[in-house]
Amino acid sequence: MSEMQDRLGPAQWDAVPGKWNSDEDDVLVCTHVRAETEDVKSFLFRTPTAKMFRFRPGQFITLELEIDGETINRCYTMSSSPTRPDTLSITVKRVPGGKVSNWLHDNLKAGVAIKAFGPSGEFSCTLHTAPKYLFLSGGSGVTPLMSMSRALYDLGEDRDVVFVHSARTPRDIIFRNELATMAHGMNRFRTAFVCENIGEQRDWSAPRGFLTLPLLKSIVPDLSEREIFCCGPEAYMANVRAMLTAAGFDMARYHEEKASRSSD
Ligand SMILES: Cc1cc2nc3c(=O)[nH]c(=O)nc-3n(C[C@H](O)[C@H](O)[C@H](O)COP(=O)(O)OP(=O)(O)OC[C@H]3O[C@@H](n4cnc5c(N)ncnc54)[C@H](O)[C@@H]3O)c2cc1C
Repeated sequence: MSEMQDRLGPAQWDAVPGKWNSDEDDVLVCTHVRAETEDVKSFLFRTPTAKMFRFRPGQFITLELEIDGETINRCYTMSSSPTRPDTLSITVKRVPGGKVSNWLHDNLKAGVAIKAFGPSGEFSCTLHTAPKYLFLSGGSGVTPLMSMSRALYDLGEDRDVVFVHSARTPRDIIFRNELATMAHGMNRFRTAFVCENIGEQRDWSAPRGFLTLPLLKSIVPDLSEREIFCCGPEAYMANVRAMLTAAGFDMARYHEEKASRSSD
């Protein structure tokens, strides 16, 4: 067990020669754009001088953009894993009326350079290594948990992980195919999806509606044994906190990151 903890622990993610340092080089160049769902795209980046990216899975970068003559900063969690250090990706959901998310969707293409700072943040399973995890996400809150899952998968870390993701409809489940591949490739990695509506997928047999405590307990009967990481909209996380408190969960083992700005 101690060997496993060392491999996943903080030292693994801090030191790498020639790594990207935004204090010296704040430019990222988009290399590829991938449509994930109808309103979510992933943007892949490299540095102009082919530096390596090193960060803790779950951390975020801050983009600084000039839009209509205004300088605007927004945070986006890396969806990529630091185990694939040649590229960094963020995965962005279009927010109706949102300045930056729409600008990224409409303007950021291969070859476009932007400014970015980081990595930042303490929301990472590498800072709370445990034998059993519960990842809970809502909507675009999937990104830090996807980075953590990709890291565990690439490292061959066969941890006991249950990843419960909530989405509007089955079509809105971000990374659905890749999560299925990871569940297939890791003995103790399990996913469950909870969709508000079934949308066009009439054969959807998984839970519908919002996540509730009885549903969560039925998916994860050993809830109390797990280190929990939760990311999503504020209302979703407030609901999760209330559920866990009602279940008598030890909240010292609950970690969260809000998937939106504090002013939202
Ligand atoms: C640590 C962190 C990590 C994050 N990671 C991700 C991620 O991985 N993926 C992701 O998609 N997002 C992520 N976010 C959210 C992201 O930073 C942005 O908040 C999000 O993309 C919306 O930004 P925007 O500029 O498009 O919207 P904004 O322009 O900030 O608008 C947000 C909402 O407010 C409304 N609004 C704006 N101005 C007004 C006004 N004057 N009056 C009334 N309403 C108004 C808009 O219509 C919109 O609905 C993260 C946030 C944090 C803090």
